[in-house]
Amino acid sequence: MRTVLCSPGSYIQQEGAISQLAGEYAHAGSTGAYILVDPTIDSLYHDSIVSSFDSGQVPYTLAVFGGECSDAEIQKHVALLADTDAVIGIGGGKTLDCAKAVGYYGKRPAIIVPTAASSDAPCSRLSVVYTDGGQFDHYLPLPENPRMVLMDTELISKAPVRFLTAGIGDAFATYYEAAACVQSSAITMTGGHATNAAFALATLCHDSLLADGVKAVSAVKLGLRTKAVENIIETNTLLSGLGFESCGLAAAHSIHDGLTAIPETHSYLHGEKVAYGTLAQMIMEDRPLEELAEVYHFFRAVGLPTNFAGIGIHDVTDEQLLHVGELACSPQDTMANMPFEVTPADVANALRAADALDKEFSVGSH
Ligand SMILES: [Zn+2]
Repeated sequence: MRTVLCSPGSYIQQEGAISQLAGEYAHAGSTGAYILVDPTIDSLYHDSIVSSFDSGQVPYTLAVFGGECSDAEIQKHVALLADTDAVIGIGGGKTLDCAKAVGYYGKRPAIIVPTAASSDAPCSRLSVVYTDGGQFDHYLPLPENPRMVLMDTELISKAPVRFLTAGIGDAFATYYEAAACVQSSAITMTGGHATNAAFALATLCHDSLLADGVKAVSAVKLGLRTKAVENIIETNTLLSGLGFESCGLAAAHSIHDGLTAIPETHSYLHGEKVAYGTLAQMIMEDRPLEELAEVYHFFRAVGLPTNFAGIGIHDVTDEQLLHVGELACSPQDTMANMPFEVTPADVANALRAADALDKEFSVGSH
């Protein structure tokens, strides 16, 4: 049996890391760094980003990300790489996906510097490419993971708390989807089955969220960096990143994808919708009542959705939910990694049952 674990070359987490970038770059290149930075981050942290390059006289080119990870944006930056020999992406998901794609097409290693712990995408060998107008276009699977993922815990602690909460939602799905994939012996996007190592990371991811999630959200609301915050940054990014990529996705993420059929959900973050998809997956699995109660309680405590209203849905018809189910069960998605057959009607029923269960748990508990 072929088992595969993928990971970035190195994962480094440190307060103030962004002001030491030139030293980290020196492990990957020497002729110059191509720094692709989110415009908001550039306006807030420009001096910190370039300070170590300037003081060490390390050459660099700084380019501001245009806002959409489209083929045109990617190729624009590839054309500007010149003598640089590594691509450093600094910002949120789209900036980082663009940096990975520029590194791939430009045949240079990518150094990924997320400015929030809002999803588990940074460590993965995948970019999501959009049209210039912001519609999903295609997935770009990459031959290797980023050379380095660098997390500045001080900077990330000061990002809006909703990002950290969404990252907790994305990370919470990891264990449940990993367990489904292990049970069904699914082939993951690494091209093999899950390793025991990756499943152990997915399990630790789950335990760490329950142990430190509430504490971390409470601290980040005040912009504080505590040990719990550092643990959750690692959990959302590294544990969940390796866990999902090397164990696989199942119902929670395919339901997230299906939810795009409901326009009201569009303003909600990836991890928020994945969280609701996880509740629906747990209902399809008929998890024990005590476990469901624990998860609903945890989601409420950290600010994740536990009902339709939490993802913007107020009136939804059975036909709409069935359509979500049809999309979630499409062959291109990951529903087939579930260890039992799932139909669109099963998804529609689980989505509504997850909303109804929230009301049961509300009675007497709050
Ligand atoms: Zn995700």
